[in-house]
Amino acid sequence: MKATIAVLSGDGIGPEVTSQAIIVLQKIAAKYGHDFIFNEAPMGGIAIDQFGDPCPDSTIRACEAADAILLGAVGGPKWSDPTAPVRPEQGLLKVRKHFDLFANLRPVKAYPALAQHTPLRPELLEGVDLLFVRELTGGIYFGPRQEQGDGDTAYDTELYTVPEVERVAQVAFRAAQGRRKKLTSVDKANVMASMRLWRRTVVKVHEDYPDVELDHVLVDACTMYLVTRPASFDVLVASNMFGDILSDETSVLAGSLGMLPSASLGSATFGLYEPIHGSAPDIAGQGKANPIGTILSAALLLRYSLGLEAEAKTVEDAVDAALNSGARTADIVARGASFISTTEMTQAIVSNL
Ligand code: NAD
Repeated sequence: MKATIAVLSGDGIGPEVTSQAIIVLQKIAAKYGHDFIFNEAPMGGIAIDQFGDPCPDSTIRACEAADAILLGAVGGPKWSDPTAPVRPEQGLLKVRKHFDLFANLRPVKAYPALAQHTPLRPELLEGVDLLFVRELTGGIYFGPRQEQGDGDTAYDTELYTVPEVERVAQVAFRAAQGRRKKLTSVDKANVMASMRLWRRTVVKVHEDYPDVELDHVLVDACTMYLVTRPASFDVLVASNMFGDILSDETSVLAGSLGMLPSASLGSATFGLYEPIHGSAPDIAGQGKANPIGTILSAALLLRYSLGLEAEAKTVEDAVDAALNSGARTADIVARGASFISTTEMTQAIVSNL
């Protein structure tokens, strides 16, 4: 297969981790006879410095010409003034909106070898393997809002339409069909009208996926269940804000922010793939960044945008094997123990491909 991948490395550790995912993708291409072309384009703070725009039109065009986007991270102290007219994160929002990437998928696995890095008891982490699906382009982050002139009143509005809920529910049901066939829909239907619409719509979409078991959990209870019985979940689907908060909570189950991948998808196969962490300015340029979140994001790219399931699984298995053989970057090492660099972790993974 021939595929073009737009690479938006961004700022801080962004280029350090995307370069490692490219090495893994090149090895996969060689192993399975594919031809992957990588097109770098500026994004985030570096694009502000060069073009005065965190996502210039040339970057959008490079993404339009690609089959998928691999992104590192954007932002850093240099561009962190909240009153600045242009900020790095605006570039990310522009790409999500431009390509209508309405579903954000975050798979979370607990690695037994890393249990000591989580605040939970090891027995609670046994068998944790869940997929969080967050609605990404609607809800309160995009609803009508107002900051009144006198500064004493402000509001944001949670607003959902049936088609918005339907399409993200379909992504979640389809994902559940490919996994353990369980979907948990998170809402606040006991209090909010928008969440009653959410629940009603998810129930209706369920009619098309009778092989998937569906249950509903209120968001407040869900925060508790995610830490008291995380292994009971297969796929979860939630609104933009609830998903934002809960998916960060689930990230502690994996042991480090550096471990977790994500995929942002629209209605076709095109998608944006990035680790869930930021640009980590505190460790940038030191060879300490854990590349696993980005390498696993590349695996999701193979699976969802290129339809290469066997190749995706090969990458995920190689990450498991590297961890089982004791490979540890600084963020996942026991206190005082020695650790390997970003590139050495990639080599440990590549040697298991
Ligand atoms: P961060 O995720 O960058 O870092 C939080 C902590 O986790 C830091 O101690 C960092 O060293 C560590 N960490 C993160 N990724 C790691 C990795 N791969 N390996 C090892 N350790 C890792 O969050 P922050 O410090 O709050 O934000 C830094 C900058 O990143 C800010 O400018 C923020 O706006 C931006 N940010 C960008 C994105 C994105 O591009 N999607 C997401 C979150 C934050």
